[in-house]
Amino acid sequence: MEKDNVCIDCYNQIDKVANILKLGQAELDVLTIPKRILTFSYPVRLDSGDLRYFTGYRVQFNDARGPTKGGIRFHPEVNLEEIKTLAFLMTLKCAVVNLPYGGAKGGVTIDPKRFSDYELERISRGYIRETYNFIGPNIDIPAPDVNTDAKIMAWMLDEYEKLEGRHTPAAITGKPIALLGSKARDFSTSMGGAYVLSEFAGTLNMKPSDTSVAVQGFGNVGMNIARILHEWGYKVIAVSDSKSGIYDSKGLDIKDVISHKDKTGKVEKFRGAKDISNEELLELKTDILVPAALEDQITKKNADKIKAKIVLEMANRPITPEADDILLGKKIVVIPDVLANAGGVVVSYFEWVQNSQNYYWSEKVVLERLKTYMTDAVREMSKVCADFKCDIRTALYINAVKKILEAEKLRGNLK
Ligand code: NAD
Repeated sequence: MEKDNVCIDCYNQIDKVANILKLGQAELDVLTIPKRILTFSYPVRLDSGDLRYFTGYRVQFNDARGPTKGGIRFHPEVNLEEIKTLAFLMTLKCAVVNLPYGGAKGGVTIDPKRFSDYELERISRGYIRETYNFIGPNIDIPAPDVNTDAKIMAWMLDEYEKLEGRHTPAAITGKPIALLGSKARDFSTSMGGAYVLSEFAGTLNMKPSDTSVAVQGFGNVGMNIARILHEWGYKVIAVSDSKSGIYDSKGLDIKDVISHKDKTGKVEKFRGAKDISNEELLELKTDILVPAALEDQITKKNADKIKAKIVLEMANRPITPEADDILLGKKIVVIPDVLANAGGVVVSYFEWVQNSQNYYWSEKVVLERLKTYMTDAVREMSKVCADFKCDIRTALYINAVKKILEAEKLRGNLK
């Protein structure tokens, strides 16, 4: 097999699992070499009248379990290696929560803040024209990711439907509700994480009113999970955004913090709370720590100072592998991203199902079904932990890898 496309980072991530499951070379190839890679360059007319070329990617990592699924990100650091790794993680995530999907990811190397809305619209439409023959409701279904949102999905869907010549809402998820998006999609990642957390808290006999929570990041994911946990009676003692954090040992009123952030653009200087740095927030004495901002926040430099009992990885890859081992040694329960933040893709799947059936569900039904998917995934993971006597991340990876390889074997693609 051609090895040029191998994803080195994927090797590193499944190393432990490959040893435990004694995977052979063909199995390793399936798990580390994407099925399809598209790299393209396309011109877009800027508002000034100039033409500018953009580089885009779409990687479909594995489709043995169903059409591939994954977001499109707009970021200046987007590159093929990163997109390959993220597509691999989507493959695992969809298998962890039992969605009938494989994994994909896409992106454009661009700093979106430097372009007007009209330019972003042309960049988004151009991305769809370049990938049109590569995507579709039964092939590969894009969704929002970093710096892309429901508005961009609406432009992308419109372009897709113009090329297709018919309505095809299931081609893209994360759409606005008025364009057949799903109810609850906007806070589904956070709600999924909250359901997972309450399963863990239940087994550890942690009562919400006696349980303190610190949340790093106050964007879509961080703000919504802080709000949900506050509404469920947890004591949210600290939150932060990119500028700084706030702390109150008695618990913050998150609704008021949201109004304060809406008014001032930041969480700092919230009445009655103490301003703290992001570093201090991570090292607080708290029962639950929720990194919900960026990758690489807990590293070998600060892992030893983490005092939380549970770390819920709502951001993608907020803990480096070295730090993960340190937390494991400290007996801190880490709930990994492939499970903790999978609620978004579960509700994206529900959106695709609703679009395919042209039958739309209430928010109540969406949330009930989300809860079932998330809690089933936790129970499956617990069984693998017990069977293999391993940590949670390893159990999730073992479970996902086994499902992917089984599908490949049944298709006759592996012995
Ligand atoms: P967002 O852009 O809405 O919010 C990010 C938040 O992080 C903002 O409050 C920002 O101020 C804060 N932040 C930025 N730099 C920071 C720093 N150095 N220290 C502390 N806070 C900082 O993004 P989001 O959609 O909430 O995504 C957050 C994370 O969750 C990302 O890792 C993303 O990949 C992951 N995630 C998001 C979804 C989703 O549905 N939105 C799904 C899965 C995973």
